[in-house]
Amino acid sequence: MDLNSAFLKKEIKKILVTGGSGFIGGHFVRRVLSSTNLKVYNLDKLNYASNEQSIERHLQSLGSEKASNYNLLKVDLYDKKDTYKSVYESSPDLIIHFAAESHVDKSIDTPDEFVNSNIIGTFNILEASRNYFLNLDKNKKNKFIFHHISTDEVFGSLGLTGKFSEKSPYQPSSPYSSSKAASDLLVNAWSKTYNLPVILTNCSNNYGPFQFPEKLIPLTIYKALNNDSIPIYGDGLNVRDWLFVEDHIDAILTALLRGKVGESYCIGGGKELTNKQLVRIICEKLDKIYPSKKKHSNLIKYVANRPGHDMRYAIDSQKIKNELGWEPKHDFEKGITKTIKWYIENISWIESISKKNKEFFLRQGL
Ligand code: NAD
Repeated sequence: MDLNSAFLKKEIKKILVTGGSGFIGGHFVRRVLSSTNLKVYNLDKLNYASNEQSIERHLQSLGSEKASNYNLLKVDLYDKKDTYKSVYESSPDLIIHFAAESHVDKSIDTPDEFVNSNIIGTFNILEASRNYFLNLDKNKKNKFIFHHISTDEVFGSLGLTGKFSEKSPYQPSSPYSSSKAASDLLVNAWSKTYNLPVILTNCSNNYGPFQFPEKLIPLTIYKALNNDSIPIYGDGLNVRDWLFVEDHIDAILTALLRGKVGESYCIGGGKELTNKQLVRIICEKLDKIYPSKKKHSNLIKYVANRPGHDMRYAIDSQKIKNELGWEPKHDFEKGITKTIKWYIENISWIESISKKNKEFFLRQGL
């Protein structure tokens, strides 16, 4: 799709993105800046997982005219006044809400941060958006959308069979997933009660370049490259459905441009793997790309399971495929090889993070 023409056709010129300095938000911001002439306002509190430098480097590669389309608003969504100010001052045609605390293990240690950012933060941006939307003229009202980015983890855990769909009940297990579930429920209520035009997407596990190395795939790669033990939670049989991050960005853009207001869409990679299988695949690929004296899989160690560890996630993406025409472009083989090579080439990025955040690299399990 020609993204610039698609946005122009809908008269979308300015967007407000929350959490645009994080992993997925960063891919979204970089894609929009390179493929369109939209003005992008990125509201982000710049927490430990943010990578604003990746956006700055991208801006340099785009040249000054395009770079001037980007504006960073360093704001915490927990701050109601600053959140309102950001929405009014950026006066966006669309809002895409990525910002959230996103790490399950961290949510078990410090759940208060998850309640503050994911629940209160979403409440504040919804209220600011509702207020702003009410005061828009008819033309701007007709095109306005609040797109909430969510996760499949809100649906809880599956048994050996079945898949989550838009009709699945909410049964979250962790402080992270329950805070995301609460934010989804708020978004749906603001749609039904206040007629705020919302779109909600629930996506499976993402992977790809620039993912903060507290998460399973980058941490496994980093530990293997350093000959450190790779601690897998429990028996390693927990199943996740993996999607390459650029395919998630395509799905979000598809839902924004073709989705129906008031609807939710489930997005999945259709690639189910147990954690054990995934870590073994990474080790085998590294044996070829980055051989060491012993096989990397010798580093695998099983540790006590994480409390509330969901057994299996899988997504039925038929709705977004059939109704909106989205399809992932990367098969897992291609995506994971690209990702591993990226982390090897950018090992200094993880090393600089590991110096500042030693605790992530001492985690008990993956
Ligand atoms: P991330 O942790 O890499 O980035 C989150 C960004 O949000 C950070 O830059 C952070 O500073 C910002 N943020 C957090 N709290 C904020 C607040 N109170 N105010 C302003 N900014 C704040 O997360 P991610 O992996 O990029 O995930 C982005 C979104 O996608 C989240 O909503 C997450 O629930 C959802 N999601 C993630 C995955 C995945 O596999 N990573 C899968 C499905 C859905």
